[in-house]
Amino acid sequence: MEKLAILGGTPALPKEAPKELFHWPIITEEDEAAALEIIRTNNFSGTDITTKFQDEFAAWQGRRHALAYTNGTMSIAAALFAIGLGAGDEIICPTKTYWASITAAQWLGATAVFCAINNKMSLDPDDLERCITKRTKAIMVVHYHGYPADMDRIMEIANRHNLIVIEDVSHAQGGLYKGKKLGNFGHIAAMSMMSGKAFAAGEMGMLVTDDTRLYERALAYGHYERNNESFIKESEELKPYFHIAIGGVKGRVNQLCAALGRGQLKHFDERTAEIRRAMNYFFDQIEKIPGLSPLRVDESTGSTMGGFYHPHCIYDPAAFHGLSVKRFAKAVMDEFNGTAPCWDGSNYCLHTHNYFKTFDGFHLGKPSRIAFADANAVPEDDVTPSLAASVEVHCFSVPWFKKLNKEWIDRYVAAIRKVVDQHEALLEEDDKSEQGGRWYGATNEDVQQKKKN
Ligand SMILES: *Cc1c(COP(=O)(O)O)cnc(C)c1O
Repeated sequence: MEKLAILGGTPALPKEAPKELFHWPIITEEDEAAALEIIRTNNFSGTDITTKFQDEFAAWQGRRHALAYTNGTMSIAAALFAIGLGAGDEIICPTKTYWASITAAQWLGATAVFCAINNKMSLDPDDLERCITKRTKAIMVVHYHGYPADMDRIMEIANRHNLIVIEDVSHAQGGLYKGKKLGNFGHIAAMSMMSGKAFAAGEMGMLVTDDTRLYERALAYGHYERNNESFIKESEELKPYFHIAIGGVKGRVNQLCAALGRGQLKHFDERTAEIRRAMNYFFDQIEKIPGLSPLRVDESTGSTMGGFYHPHCIYDPAAFHGLSVKRFAKAVMDEFNGTAPCWDGSNYCLHTHNYFKTFDGFHLGKPSRIAFADANAVPEDDVTPSLAASVEVHCFSVPWFKKLNKEWIDRYVAAIRKVVDQHEALLEEDDKSEQGGRWYGATNEDVQQKKKN
């Protein structure tokens, strides 16, 4: 048996894989022509192309309104403003997600309350009611890495407590939960379309809702040029504040990205279907390995993973003699030989970041997260057992195949199997360091490394 690459053997993969295996987004000549047209006519700042894209996206999503923003972060901020989140309100968010799912809440004076994740890295409905208090106004649901959250149970709890549900669909456009499109469960949904995402169109965000009042508030928040009587017809409350963005931000997308979005949308369903064929072929094999459980759904239930955004696999150290996921992932990465990453941990749990513990953005002498909170109502996140357990859900990223190329996918399976079969050889130098992670693209180690250089 060939020695593991991390121990000096020959890597399982060669230095290069076929480009189309991972290349994303797919850009055609039609996309290039659409982009050039915007550049040549200097039509960045209008809304004619954006409006077309919004209409097409709303029709595709199956929602009455769609509104495009500069990025996903802005679309989420607009959604939180739209629902009327304000000082002292609480909003529940799964602890394991990208920061932008919830950071805007605290600038509205609201308190982020973190909910545990289950063994699918998804908001755990069993922990949800612990988080609800008389101040709770909304739940932020994230379909993390494309895995559809348990919407039946979440909506049942939300309805019983009369809570607003927002979906962050940044990882899951086009995904289904029991036959219904993600983004169509809550009162409002928002999502990223930045260049690294499953729906990749430069830098853009999108908000969708059926509720015209929420739509008008979202429009007024950051689309100043449409905060007027031509576009806002129903919301009397907004009328005294026409012509200035009431969120104080310029949030509409530039039309270069809207043009790219139109092109992506045309082919999105067929391209993500190909991704699902590839990922399901890959995960069918990985799933047979004891200790590894791919983050995926059983498609016979009518649920799907959309474009499988940065796919992950849950890792059980007990199945590998306690080998840390960090060392396991590093060994796999070395077998991949630079053709694909294999990171341990995904995003860190948000409740562990100082931003939510100590940052005092309002200069009120207390953390912004609880600036307007009833102190008794705020759980002590560090000592909450379910949140402590969330940190211990181990995972690593796997290659994000865009094409069903069985021969090449088999080689990646073989690379992972090689590490699985020889994992005992990794135990000796395993320093048992904790699962790593990222707040965004960079790991803490990257940051430390940069500081050293
Ligand atoms: C990327 C991302 C966002 C923010 O989107 P941007 O377009 O980067 O501003 C929000 N939520 C999640 C879950 C994300 O992954």
